[in-house]
Amino acid sequence: MDAGFFRRWLTTAARAVERDADRLTALDSAIGDADHGSNLRRGMAAVAAALDAEEPATPGAVLLLAGRTLVSTVGGASGPLYGTLLRRAGKALGDAERVEGEELREALAEGADAVARLGGAAQGDKTMLDALLPAVAALPDLAAAAGAAQRGAEATIALRARRGRASYLGERSEGHMDPGSASTALLFLALAEVAD
Ligand code: ADP
Ligand code: MG
Ligand code: MG
Repeated sequence: MDAGFFRRWLTTAARAVERDADRLTALDSAIGDADHGSNLRRGMAAVAAALDAEEPATPGAVLLLAGRTLVSTVGGASGPLYGTLLRRAGKALGDAERVEGEELREALAEGADAVARLGGAAQGDKTMLDALLPAVAALPDLAAAAGAAQRGAEATIALRARRGRASYLGERSEGHMDPGSASTALLFLALAEVAD
């Protein structure tokens, strides 16, 4: 996987977020403040534009630029969290021109760890980590990772939120999919699509 592959991954993800922004916002309106779709749509559109303008030459540079752009364009919790995921993973990839599946797995595992530390969340807290951690565990098989992220997102429906805005609702957060887990599923679906 080279820089072009990583750019295609994130621009494909940006299109998926654009397409599903209303659904993400509807999920956030049930247990949050109804802005996840618009937050991420703005952030990912800025990522696609930045990648187009700068054409970073290595996979690591692609992820660093994307992470920085998300942090600076997304006001909500998801901006710093996704920004941390991508920046940490980009840093782990260093300046290699090509990345193998195992290196991607290690880099995203470091990123997921950093997300957990930043947000103080663990698996089962009904956050993006409930899709992210199983997806990373299924790598380097990209199709398996996409399936695991989607199943992880669906499993958040039954959970009670312990982190983020949804946790203010207590047991009333049960019965709804966590919006961040739904967007994480889109991210991994895009990764599998680009590899096909
Ligand atoms: P905000 O909650 O600030 O409006 P968004 O709506 O864009 O931000 O993102 C909400 C999503 O962010 C949640 O659905 C959840 O997946 C994720 N999230 C929020 N807080 C945390 C946290 N402490 N740890 C991990 N993920 C979190
Ligand atoms: Mg929100
Ligand atoms: Mg908000």
